[in-house]
Amino acid sequence: MRGRVFLIGAGPGHKGLLTLRAIECLELAEVVLYDRLVSPEVLACIPETAERIDVGKSARHHRMEQTEIIQRLIQHAEAGRTVARLKGGDPFVFGRGSEEAQALAERGIPFEIVPGVSSAIAGPALAGIPLTHRGISTGFHVVTGHECLDSAGTPWPLLAASNLTLVILMGLGRLETIVEQLIRHGRSATTPAAVIQEATTPRQRVVAGTLSDIAERVRAAAIEPPALIVVGQVVAIRDQLGGLVEAVGTPQVTSRMGGDGW
Ligand code: SAH
Repeated sequence: MRGRVFLIGAGPGHKGLLTLRAIECLELAEVVLYDRLVSPEVLACIPETAERIDVGKSARHHRMEQTEIIQRLIQHAEAGRTVARLKGGDPFVFGRGSEEAQALAERGIPFEIVPGVSSAIAGPALAGIPLTHRGISTGFHVVTGHECLDSAGTPWPLLAASNLTLVILMGLGRLETIVEQLIRHGRSATTPAAVIQEATTPRQRVVAGTLSDIAERVRAAAIEPPALIVVGQVVAIRDQLGGLVEAVGTPQVTSRMGGDGW
């Protein structure tokens, strides 16, 4: 008999941001394949009875290839097991979850998508940055910074010309190039920008500035991945909200925001 697969969004890190459905599915799972982005706090929610497989790194600390991850998912499901595939944030936001779903569909393996709270939404919120705000931003773009050198990829000129909020995932290592692209294509160097490291976890850190100085501030603060970038006038609202925002689940993230950190 064929098993089934739950493609589960683990949320941005804090276990309070797991959905009830995610917890139900983890409780049903016999095997859990998880990513490097899944936080220790969330991993602690996996029942002891389930076998855990870290597909974020292999024995030699190289990441498992996507094809191998898919093969493993299929093998476990075809062996009749209930499989949970746990991914950071939402499984369909840059998580390659859709490729895994395609592979399962091709093999006729039943699966359920369990949406998760994306870091793109939760990260800015917990830093006191609303993605939309009446009179300031009527929407937002969420893009990968991974392709910033590839003109066929992310449309930087279009994003620079837009006055909507910009949320960039996977962009920390290319922050300088991204900033340069945005300014070159017309965004003002005085546009507020922030970088948020390990949002929603006790390790969360926030650095804010403008396009002209954000790269330097991030370097000085030694911000590490995973981190996301927010660009737009909404970042300035943090000055009004920042000091009063309480992070989720105060026992885990207790400090109030202020200055450049928590
Ligand atoms: N599916 C995920 C995104 C996967 S892409 C989601 O919906 O959140 C991986 C990128 O997401 C990282 O490079 C980083 O930019 C961002 N990211 C994920 N979790 C994060 C967190 N807790 N804090 C800050 N950025 C995070």
